[in-house]
Amino acid sequence: MCQKQGMFSTALLGWYDANARTLPWRLPPNSVTRPDPYRVWLSEIMLQQTGVATVTRYFQEFTRRWPTVEALAAAPDEAIMAAWAGLGYYTRARNLITAARMIAARGFPADESGWRALPGVGPYTAAAITAIAFGERCAAVDTNVERVASRVLNLRTPLPAARAEIRAALLPLVPANRPGDFTQALMDLGSAVCTPRRPGCSACPVRDYCATADPVAAEALPVKPPPKTRPARYGCVWWIESGGDVALIRRPPRGLLGGMPGFPGSHWTEDPAHAPLPFASDWRRTGEISHIFTHFSLRLVIFAAELANQFPVVAGEAIDWTPRGALESAGLPTVYAKVAQLMLASADQPCFETLC
Ligand code: SF4
Repeated sequence: MCQKQGMFSTALLGWYDANARTLPWRLPPNSVTRPDPYRVWLSEIMLQQTGVATVTRYFQEFTRRWPTVEALAAAPDEAIMAAWAGLGYYTRARNLITAARMIAARGFPADESGWRALPGVGPYTAAAITAIAFGERCAAVDTNVERVASRVLNLRTPLPAARAEIRAALLPLVPANRPGDFTQALMDLGSAVCTPRRPGCSACPVRDYCATADPVAAEALPVKPPPKTRPARYGCVWWIESGGDVALIRRPPRGLLGGMPGFPGSHWTEDPAHAPLPFASDWRRTGEISHIFTHFSLRLVIFAAELANQFPVVAGEAIDWTPRGALESAGLPTVYAKVAQLMLASADQPCFETLC
């Protein structure tokens, strides 16, 4: 590490010592012990695509119910999927279950490549866990770090091509005695000071080592690739009630929202025309909801029917008849929770509503 690199790291860590966020999966700066790898791994998986405030609630509930990786590995899939409901990106939960069972059988990996071999662990997550929980020098580059590094280096290479350059520039900055604190300090700097909009350059602890150091110029960095358009998909939800119960199905174990509970309905396609209803009844079109997934946006039209008898199967799907009052605790993923919210709020109102 050259003198300037050393000064950057010292300035950053000095700021972190006074300003580190208190988070339930972290130890305070300069701790002599290392954090529990289970807690670091669980938090990093949850933090992929989800904010700290939401993750904190879910993390506390998960670690209360399953305080060790062995406890998590022994838990039924359905209990973990239900506890994950609302956090989104459910592939993460399925990967978490598989990885927990691999770790319980073989122990925690101690290096980046071992972590990369686990499902759901990409280059950033592997580097962050290895640095934080095992004290190894690794360059953990997520979107926060990409932003800070692009500005400090005044990088003009657009993402994602700039990532390799950022990783190569970052690794020599990681101090051998505090790799975990350095990784967390960069995360906190990106979250509190070097923010996407209006970065706080005037009070920034690394201002003297930053090649941009100007809030207006910094907002233009990192250079992003042109935005991709998100395709639209359409479908129908069939809200079927009988005797105060509502029909729920369980989605197939693989694929989007795999293994999660939901409402029966049509396939989601690029054709906005409605699919045929599953059986003849006094159907009412009662509303629609919108939801954004990573790779597409979805618009679901809700059709409701009231049945005299509780069929065990609808459109080839086994039905779990669930009391209306139990829907909120049924572990519905967000897209279906929006349907339930709309239908329960508009009960007995014939008007057409939309929830985005
Ligand atoms: Fe970011 Fe400004 Fe600090 Fe540079 S000086 S790292 S642009 S906040």
